[in-house]
Amino acid sequence: MTTNAQEFASAQAIMPGGVNSPVRAFGSVGGVPPFLVDAHGAHVTDVEGKQYVDLVMSWGPALLGHSHPAVIEAVHRAVDHGLSFGASTADESKLARLIANRMGGVERVRMVSTGTEATMTAIRLARGYTGRDLVIKFAGNYHGHVDALLAAAGSGLATLALPGSAGVPAAVTAETLVLPYNNREALVAAFAEFGPRIAAVIAESAPCNMGVVAPEDGFNAYLREITAQHGSLLIIDEVLTGFRASDAGYWGLTGRVEGWVPDLFTFGKVIGGGMPAAAIGGRQEVMEHLAPLGPVYQAGTLSGNPVATAAGIATLEHASSEVYAHIDARSLQLQDELTAAFNAAGVDHSIQVAGNLFSVAFGTSDAGVHNYADAQAQEGWRYAPFFHSMLESGVYLPPSVFEAWFLSAAHDDAAMDRIVSALPAAAAAAAA
Ligand code: PLP
Repeated sequence: MTTNAQEFASAQAIMPGGVNSPVRAFGSVGGVPPFLVDAHGAHVTDVEGKQYVDLVMSWGPALLGHSHPAVIEAVHRAVDHGLSFGASTADESKLARLIANRMGGVERVRMVSTGTEATMTAIRLARGYTGRDLVIKFAGNYHGHVDALLAAAGSGLATLALPGSAGVPAAVTAETLVLPYNNREALVAAFAEFGPRIAAVIAESAPCNMGVVAPEDGFNAYLREITAQHGSLLIIDEVLTGFRASDAGYWGLTGRVEGWVPDLFTFGKVIGGGMPAAAIGGRQEVMEHLAPLGPVYQAGTLSGNPVATAAGIATLEHASSEVYAHIDARSLQLQDELTAAFNAAGVDHSIQVAGNLFSVAFGTSDAGVHNYADAQAQEGWRYAPFFHSMLESGVYLPPSVFEAWFLSAAHDDAAMDRIVSALPAAAAAAAA
């Protein structure tokens, strides 16, 4: 048997940081990440044989729980017929219809493999459709590692953005405006100055990558209103929230109730059920600007891959109203338990909630977190000791205070009991 430490050292000797995606390196909490060998139900197991209750759930895809029998069986069935055809299959349209039938305004769907590809394509499509170049995004909203969206706010409210990563050309982010989230005045100012040049506004349906930050009441509807006024497109990113916050994502709790649809949605995570699948969906007139019908180029060797498609179909077909009711109830239960544990330990905090998605923030009880500046101003250092205490007790949390916690249909009473019994010690660690 090897240890996590041995595996991490071995990984660091061949892969930058020992990982294939940065947050897995535990940079913000320190220590050695568990190297996993198995994921079933609400649990993951590491190379040392230690089992954890999982609250990462592959960062969202495992809505039904890890290795749900129906998903595994669908994958086995698909694998028996081949891994990849590079040609069309009937199941691709089936998955596209499962997505479209649950959402409003999704008249056409294009499958891709990752959320990053979906948002990258949505931006290109918006620019190609409108013939305009500028894109508005919000600080603290994450849309994958698309050059144009790895942008940091400039100094003023409506200034063109600066690169948010080395290697991103300033010329690329000069076409992006980064605005403070939940701030209508900033939008008004940006549209007043740049309106005829703005191709699109892109926003997470509910931001979950600066911790969870709910859009204020009517904020997404206002995005719809102001973009429509100026002939810009609205792209609602449901990669994380899609088919998780409700059967129709976070849009199901906002636009469906309020009666509006964006021009384009992006999806990922749950629609692949743990396999690489993502999508762009939206208004036919816009979507038909994509190749081969239109002039906006987009393609993918593995797009609509039959194994990923099978996993996605099985996941959506089993994502029943009972699944959402279960996750909603578990989410409320855990929020209550967290509040009780932190209050007992005297830890100032807020539970940041958007539908059934939530995260914790520290030192924020008076006003909560409404934008990226609030998220950054919190006592984030309290998270590492909290996280490590939970890990020690066998609960695997997201290794950063800026990530949402993920529940699933497989989080049963026994899993919840393990989480709840670990909380008092972890809250005490956060208090120190
Ligand atoms: N959009 C949102 C809202 C996300 O949370 C993510 C990933 O976490 C992405 C896009 C990028 O998706 P992927 O990691 O599949 O490229």
